[in-house]
Amino acid sequence: MNILITGGAGYIGSCATLKIIKNYKSHCIILDKQETINLTKLIQSYNKNLTFYKVDLTNYHQLKEIFQDISNKFKIDVIIHFAAYTIVSESEANPYKYFHNNINSTLNLLELMIHYEIPHIIFSSSASVYGKANYIPINESHPLNPLSAYALSKKISEDLIIKYSQKGINYINLRYFNPAGSIDNLGEEHNPETHLIPLLVKSLIEGKTFRIFGNDFPTKDGTCIRDFIHIQDLVVSHLISLEHLLTGKVINETFNVGINKGYSVLEVVQKSLEIFKNKINPHFKYIFDKRREGDVPILLADSQKIQEMMNFKPNYDLEDILYSVWNYEMEKISL
Ligand code: UDP
Repeated sequence: MNILITGGAGYIGSCATLKIIKNYKSHCIILDKQETINLTKLIQSYNKNLTFYKVDLTNYHQLKEIFQDISNKFKIDVIIHFAAYTIVSESEANPYKYFHNNINSTLNLLELMIHYEIPHIIFSSSASVYGKANYIPINESHPLNPLSAYALSKKISEDLIIKYSQKGINYINLRYFNPAGSIDNLGEEHNPETHLIPLLVKSLIEGKTFRIFGNDFPTKDGTCIRDFIHIQDLVVSHLISLEHLLTGKVINETFNVGINKGYSVLEVVQKSLEIFKNKINPHFKYIFDKRREGDVPILLADSQKIQEMMNFKPNYDLEDILYSVWNYEMEKISL
């Protein structure tokens, strides 16, 4: 099987590539505009199973040349489309950057899928398309109310994919809740890092002050609640989607991917203090700061649909995520 993975150098894309190669011995063709540390690690270990093209997916002509080159060598069975800018606050400051990149990448890919007769796509969408929840947990029929340019770019990409499904493309859209954690030696390497768990773990190790954004939300302890899904489980949801899509058992569906369990930001901090107690740098402390713009109080998945239709069951919880990130960060220090 030949799988084209956009954004395969990024956090989720590289972890998915690793798992796909290990599980299926497939050939993965990565398209990404960046060469990252995760990509280097993948190439070091799995050179034979990987082809990498450095490309900006918004450049249609360059992308077409690459698709032509790929089609001379491989028959692509499916595309997994991870490539996107993902920082909500940045998207609000610079919406053009997000609309241009995230929407045009998807559009170009879809057009080339038709041209090169690639029948299947799995798309990484986001729970942010729901906006501020009307009810909890959020199922797939919850109204969509994307509040940031990032969220809107994901919603528009979903719409484009649905539109192109009328031309024969089969899709599965996966709406991620809060992915975190690491797999083997691959982890979150965003620059700048904005996510709770990697920032918290780094602060615990380095003895820095961690800022909790807002303690006046309408939640049990005033801090935001999120549904954290281990990257191991998230990646498995892609493997399951691949199997269902390629066999035609499930096509043209959208699924939430979370664990149906919410932790507040304060609970995440307290859980970390509890499980790492003796190892924490004594200079660590946390403070409450003002709300971060664009944060919604609660994002909590109802993931029954993916459980029922594709038998997906998450295996990991917050503690596993925290340990995996701790080990990942410690490994980096010891190198
Ligand atoms: N958060 C925080 N301090 C940080 C980073 C994040 O309090 O240094 C909070 C953030 O305000 C949100 C939650 O943690 O309420 C999850 O944020 P993250 O950026 O990890 O994911 P998001 O839900 O925004 O996709």
